[in-house]
Amino acid sequence: MKVINKSNFTEFVGNLIENDHREVVGVQSKSSKFAFDPLESAEDLRLDYDVTILPPKKYFMPQRETLIEYNTEEGEMETVNEVIPRIILGIHPYDLIAIEQMDKVFKDTHEDPYYLDKREQSVLVGVNMVNVSDWSFADTMGTATVDSGYDVMLTDIGDKYALEVGSAKGSRLVEKAGSAVNDIEPEEIKQVKQYKKELPNKFRNDPKFDPFELPTLLKEYYGKDEFWEENAEDCLSCGTCNLVCPTCYCFDVNDINDLSLTEGERLRTWDGCMLEAFAEVAGDENFREEKAARYRHRYMRKGRYMYNRFGDIACVGCGRCSAQCLPDIADPVDIFNKMKEGTQ
Ligand code: SF4
Ligand code: SF4
Repeated sequence: MKVINKSNFTEFVGNLIENDHREVVGVQSKSSKFAFDPLESAEDLRLDYDVTILPPKKYFMPQRETLIEYNTEEGEMETVNEVIPRIILGIHPYDLIAIEQMDKVFKDTHEDPYYLDKREQSVLVGVNMVNVSDWSFADTMGTATVDSGYDVMLTDIGDKYALEVGSAKGSRLVEKAGSAVNDIEPEEIKQVKQYKKELPNKFRNDPKFDPFELPTLLKEYYGKDEFWEENAEDCLSCGTCNLVCPTCYCFDVNDINDLSLTEGERLRTWDGCMLEAFAEVAGDENFREEKAARYRHRYMRKGRYMYNRFGDIACVGCGRCSAQCLPDIADPVDIFNKMKEGTQ
């Protein structure tokens, strides 16, 4: 473990912004919320944020992405894969774990070069949480701290950051800070340990379930139609809970032709299982026409389907869905508690 003074860290980030060939992005304040965005100044970086509006998945899987361009008249088709090398600063542990889960998905069966190339060209600099969102239950989900998934990990210890290197990429980045980085002192190691000891006190304490009970609980509740209908009653089918989720990766692919119908592009855009048209297929059939069926599917996917496939619970407890659902019905803690307690 190493340490760097906060003022030296700000100078280091400033140098990266000015001189590094990669784009430097970091968490910034946007009115009363926070978002990952390219940094113009090191002073704009906010490593004390609680949660960002969108997770950093947008850098590996953009909201809109051209996959190919084609011209049928010329008989031409070209693959487009725009990769911007990036250093991403300030990723919380739960988002690092979500990225590890996404990596498995995009490497499984058919490797996805669009996602994987962007991951390869990114350096992930994590930060342990200073402030915690009121909606987060990451400690219950075991995602409040991480031992892997980062290239560099920072912990705020007063006027310094403790710094852990997690990969060769991270090591090369830290080397750029030169003599500003020093070996950690025993007293500073104690501060990191104390931080980790006190961290659970910052989270809401109402989850009543163990994450690894969820696959069994969800299996039991699958056929309880009344439960899902009652809980989904106020759902607006807006899809927000999907789009803000760091482990949701569903997408749609469409060919967009120009007016001459000879040239066009194949576009990949984010999609979400809570949207009405998500499970629509040819012949005007829809496998999940009722909102209760869509609502149930989202929870099944978070706590059961991904576990069956990869051994991961696909909810990392960030709380974004709960915070952003207008009718306030997307909180996984609420649903999982009800299942655990056997209530509606
Ligand atoms: S649960 Fe909430 S955020 Fe999700 S689709 Fe329904 S209304 Fe939108
Ligand atoms: S389901 Fe909600 S709390 Fe869980 S990871 Fe997704 S957005 Fe975060």
